[in-house]
Amino acid sequence: MPATARIAAVEAFVLAGDKDYVGGAGLRATAPGQASSGSSPGAHRPRALAEIGDLHICAYPPQAQTCLVRITADDDTVGWGEGHAPLGPRATRAVVEDVLAPLLLGADPLAIEALWERMYGAMRLRGHVAGYQLEAIAGADIALWDLAGKLLGEPVYRLLGGPFRRELPAYASGVPGATAEERAAAAQGFVAEGYTAVKCSIGRGDIASDLATVAAIAEAIRGRADLLVDAHGAYSAENALQVGRRLQELGVYWLEDPLPPEDIAGYAHLTAALDMAVAAGETECTRWQFAERLARRAVDVILPDICRAGGITEGRRIATVASLHNTKWAAHVSMGSSVHVAAAAHLAAASANFLIFEFPSTPNPLGDDLLTAPLRPTDGVFRVPDGPGLGIAFDEDRLRAHLRDGAL
Ligand SMILES: [Mg+2]
Repeated sequence: MPATARIAAVEAFVLAGDKDYVGGAGLRATAPGQASSGSSPGAHRPRALAEIGDLHICAYPPQAQTCLVRITADDDTVGWGEGHAPLGPRATRAVVEDVLAPLLLGADPLAIEALWERMYGAMRLRGHVAGYQLEAIAGADIALWDLAGKLLGEPVYRLLGGPFRRELPAYASGVPGATAEERAAAAQGFVAEGYTAVKCSIGRGDIASDLATVAAIAEAIRGRADLLVDAHGAYSAENALQVGRRLQELGVYWLEDPLPPEDIAGYAHLTAALDMAVAAGETECTRWQFAERLARRAVDVILPDICRAGGITEGRRIATVASLHNTKWAAHVSMGSSVHVAAAAHLAAASANFLIFEFPSTPNPLGDDLLTAPLRPTDGVFRVPDGPGLGIAFDEDRLRAHLRDGAL
């Protein structure tokens, strides 16, 4: 590498993929709400078995979408990053190109901590300390780490001081099916593939049927895999503890997002009342946001999404803050592209208090089919790429086919 490499270009690209995509590993996705059986409107139901509302449910676009960031050095070395952008990826692209790029152009690409502070500080006093701003920073930061690794000829996990491990335990995220029986069979299928943990969603309508579904899945995999349950912030003070105790009786390993994320006192109460782990944090964007939850013992396992939470640089700081509270972190990946998967994997490899890696069980149209080599778990274990930078390379024709609003 030249002794004085400089950043020559910062670009962002919107990617979209058809959700009906059926390639790759796993089973077809179940649309939100589809997995919950309906209840009869107007019928009297005991209070604890009432339907919960769905105002908390995230909006889902018709296509899988994200925003990739490409940073090029003046010797033409390229780094790729990703800002998590399931909705409105053109907004993320605008933040990268209009707000961040002018701060980065001409700078030393290895001064990553300094550049992170420059990007965060640019809008901090204007209140842009989460959301699109941090997702855009995440994309730029990950691109800088990939670029640094390629300039230095080392995988990112080595630049971070790792590895502690290169084989990451992964869980199959999402148990598809229209009935409890179908979902139990799908969970058994993931265990047969080698997964030792499976995560199912609840919280989209009827508590009684949710509990029956969890019971069926738990029974199907008992003794062979851990069951994680994601409630998507569905419950309230009135029913969260009751649902939690029922799930605990079923042997659930962690209950994720039982309450809306703003109710930190509620999380502290639940965490104290349940023996089962309470997991949360996919909503949080910085170490300061995680610090309050951790200090108040409002969470047992944190779930940072590094393409939302400021990238690898801030993700490493979040892991350090968690270590102050003897707390482990699990990588939240959701339907991120393979850049997201690779970036989270490198941080996990280099982090003492990493717990487990999320991998979507359903085909991802922006997944490793866009790469020149597969990037997915085998036998329930995710092996961290070993090449320079993030250790992945795009098949440019396949990448181009998913680009929206722009050209490579
Ligand atoms: Mg979740």
